[in-house]
Amino acid sequence: MNFLKKYQEEFDKLDKMEKDFIDDDLIWSILNKHKSPTKEEVRAVLKKAETCTRLSPDEMAILIQNKDKDCIEEMYSLAHKLKEEVYGDRIVFFAPLYISDECANNCKYCGFRSSNHSIKRKTLTMEEISEEVKIMIEEGQKRTILVYGESPNTQVDFMVKTVEQVYKTKTEHGEIRRANINCAPLRVDELKKLKEVGIGTYQVFQETYHHETYKDVHPQGTIKGHYRWRLYSMDRAQEAGVDDNGLGVLFGLYDWRFEVLALLFHTIHLEQKFNGVGPHTISFPRITPALDTPYSSNPKYAVSDEDFKKLIAILRLSIPYTGLICTAREPDKVRKEVLPLGVSQIDAGTRIGVGAYAQSLKANTIPDKEQFTIEDGRSLDDVVKEICEMNAIPSFCTACYRAGRTGEQFMKVAKSKFVYNYCIPNAIFTLKEYALDYASNSSLPIINETINNHLNSLANKPSYPKVLEIVKRIENGERDVRL
Ligand code: SAM
Ligand code: SF4
Repeated sequence: MNFLKKYQEEFDKLDKMEKDFIDDDLIWSILNKHKSPTKEEVRAVLKKAETCTRLSPDEMAILIQNKDKDCIEEMYSLAHKLKEEVYGDRIVFFAPLYISDECANNCKYCGFRSSNHSIKRKTLTMEEISEEVKIMIEEGQKRTILVYGESPNTQVDFMVKTVEQVYKTKTEHGEIRRANINCAPLRVDELKKLKEVGIGTYQVFQETYHHETYKDVHPQGTIKGHYRWRLYSMDRAQEAGVDDNGLGVLFGLYDWRFEVLALLFHTIHLEQKFNGVGPHTISFPRITPALDTPYSSNPKYAVSDEDFKKLIAILRLSIPYTGLICTAREPDKVRKEVLPLGVSQIDAGTRIGVGAYAQSLKANTIPDKEQFTIEDGRSLDDVVKEICEMNAIPSFCTACYRAGRTGEQFMKVAKSKFVYNYCIPNAIFTLKEYALDYASNSSLPIINETINNHLNSLANKPSYPKVLEIVKRIENGERDVRL
């Protein structure tokens, strides 16, 4: 079958729907209604946010439109407080693994787009995947996200094999314990195959929720050109039993204020349809320059650092139970500044070229196999050290997903803030493994101090003796012990 027509039947069904759940005019009318909120209005919303409940579109719009400096500061400190309440002071680490840069789509902002002849097309073989994974494991990674273009050569059966290959690759220090996926939208039967092979989070970024802009940057005649096919990808995922889903917007394509409100509408749609299960994570990449991709060097709606901080805090306050991911596209300085505003996951030791982990033993970047540029190219060890210096705790935990705490189960735990009981101990265990197996002389002292401080913070908890016992077992050589 013609690859570009493979979803035609589904497209036709979606085209027949009168409307979808993103109403551009409604979003703008809500934003305009709250153009200049008073301090009292903003503080009333912050009071509601303090109760850790999801905000309404009107409430979120009030935060988005607030320009009062005092209220912005209050918003930042509340975002920090909520993050600590729901997630504790841990930061979860992962690293991407690019499987292929082959792509039949032609997204204007992306280095991998089909019309970009400066990119060398490459799909990793199973042996090459193992080679990449071994290097990642030896650097200390436990979680990865596999990234693919959309191509006849990388369809779902191939993806299934790549996930299996990642999980079966082992070194003396263990294995990757959780493989998430960032790929094109799929059909329900395709998603079921990914579910079976044990993927973690399934990420699809809408890129922009604004219909007209979407059309402009994703040429018609490509699969990605179909807005609704992408918009309903998480509905299909839920239907297939893939209940751990990641939303995202590529910031710079359209007005950030519209996009964050649209993310809330997407969340509400999922919650209403799937028993309260909203997105497990939200990502908010800003466009960075890609090789021979003029659109990416000069995005029309580039988001300033100030607005970037605001939008992260607003997402944290509006959808408090959702993980927020800040990637290495951002420079270290920006990442450091936004972490306290509610970010719960970061990548580190990141290489984004296809085959880049093996290649990086020789050179730092491989521009003709990279989708865009990253700004934070520091080693995992450097970033782990910095997080400890910020008095937070790096976590390599993969327990929830392996214990079946995903979708509705996870939401129950997250919404009741019970996460804290599992997460801090599991962060301590996985950081202890990192200390014993990977830490450099330079990072080890602060890592040990972080572990001790967090152990002390549990001293009055009923779980304390059990936590101490597990730490001892890890010191004695056991690995992958979790609550
Ligand atoms: N091909 C799949 C798709 O488009 O859904 C997989 C995703 S792509 C390899 C990963 C994400 O990178 C995209 O969803 C997009 O948000 C982001 N991206 C693309 N070009 C970018 C750029 N120039 N700067 C930053 N992020 C970019
Ligand atoms: Fe292909 Fe994804 Fe890049 Fe679009 S964003 S060109 S679909 S890899």
